[in-house]
Amino acid sequence: MPELAEVELARRQWAAFHGQKILTAETHPKARIYRDCPAPALRILEGKKLLSSKAHGKRMLFTFGPQLHLEVHLGMSGKLSTSSADHAIEKHDHLILRTSKASLIFNDYRMFGRVMLYDLADPWAELPPQPQDSRFSVAYLRKKMTRHAKKPLKALLLDQTICPGIGNWMADEICWKLGLHPAAPSGQLDPASVRKATRFVTLGALKHIADKNETASTDGFAPGSYVAQVPPKNWLFQHRWKKGGTCPKCKTDLARDTIATRTTAWCPTCQKP
Ligand SMILES: [Zn+2]
Repeated sequence: MPELAEVELARRQWAAFHGQKILTAETHPKARIYRDCPAPALRILEGKKLLSSKAHGKRMLFTFGPQLHLEVHLGMSGKLSTSSADHAIEKHDHLILRTSKASLIFNDYRMFGRVMLYDLADPWAELPPQPQDSRFSVAYLRKKMTRHAKKPLKALLLDQTICPGIGNWMADEICWKLGLHPAAPSGQLDPASVRKATRFVTLGALKHIADKNETASTDGFAPGSYVAQVPPKNWLFQHRWKKGGTCPKCKTDLARDTIATRTTAWCPTCQKP
């Protein structure tokens, strides 16, 4: 599932066409991505310019006017891409916004993704701070870790109301970086260290994935193959997907189990319970 860096990379695909007027909004009305917003409503975007966009955690917001925004969630397998203006619709292309220069495409073969329209000035006014924001402070984390003291660290990191944008691989990377077992209760941990590791992994993921790739991979969202450029070999990332993967620090075989309902990889030597 795309996490904050893959989502930022997806946003940048469409952002290359800020300033372009949408000529037509073509939808696939039966697609599940329209479960919260009927497909014909998207025609309101026709004749409007794509003015700006931003990402927050795992969601993106494309702005077409002071009170007109399209929110996109990629879900498990959603993908944003661009193609020529006369792009022929392909299977799983559920939304195509055509401009005179390009087609902006939302393709999703599993359809856990979704779109929403907002007619508010700032639909994201209430969202929690992202790990890369200055508001994601030691005091903020201390408050959350105290309130959720029994929550395993991995579950805390995966909680989108606390650490928006962190998903399975980033949560494992943060626990490994900290040298902490993913099931360690949050209340017993040092918020300053958790913040430092969370920001290291977040800023590193943005650098290695959103900045170093030009396009999202076309070969789907198999684990670890979202993109051509990935974090370096001294990250857990490159080892966690491999059968028989070992810890990049101490070469111990990685352990795997379900923690916080997700398949979790960790080093039994570096991350003692
Ligand atoms: Zn190790």
